[in-house]
Amino acid sequence: MRHLPYFCRGEVVKGFGRGSKELGIPTANFSEQVVESFPSDISTGIYYGWACVGNGDVHKMVLSIGWNPSYKNIKKSVETHIIHTFKDDFYGEILSIVIVGYIQSEKNFSSLEALISAIQEDIEEAKRQLDLPEHFKLKDDNFFHLPEGKTVNR
Ligand code: ADP
Ligand code: MG
Repeated sequence: MRHLPYFCRGEVVKGFGRGSKELGIPTANFSEQVVESFPSDISTGIYYGWACVGNGDVHKMVLSIGWNPSYKNIKKSVETHIIHTFKDDFYGEILSIVIVGYIQSEKNFSSLEALISAIQEDIEEAKRQLDLPEHFKLKDDNFFHLPEGKTVNR
């Protein structure tokens, strides 16, 4: 997959309230500006990688790049589900991520149950992949130790 690993940092904003949290799978949404800085030819679908909120710990994550319903699906959205239980929401904080690998393209599901179980499988796949040495080493990348001001992609 082209562009990977992909490093990115930006503010967590309010999403479009699709109720991810109610499904038990909250997704931290990046602002439109951050999404526009992504390569325009990056594939939509489900990815895995590492994520860190502010200067907190680095956790495993699954990420979806999809079409943004707020813009009639002509713009993309980038949403990160961090595989960790947080005590509080972190809207307005800086989220740093490295996208490491691709799991699968976006699919439509016939029921909520089918959707949730597919996401659970993606999460399990992400956990397995990120334990592989070549993926695990990115957890300690210097990117996660840079000052927050450096909102660079590279
Ligand atoms: P929204 O539509 O505003 O994105 P969500 O239901 O997707 O709402 O919930 C996302 C918010 O939940 C994040 O912005 C963050 O503040 C909070 N949150 C709490 N735990 C997590 C987590 N493990 N991964 C991602 N976001 C989380
Ligand atoms: Mg969300």
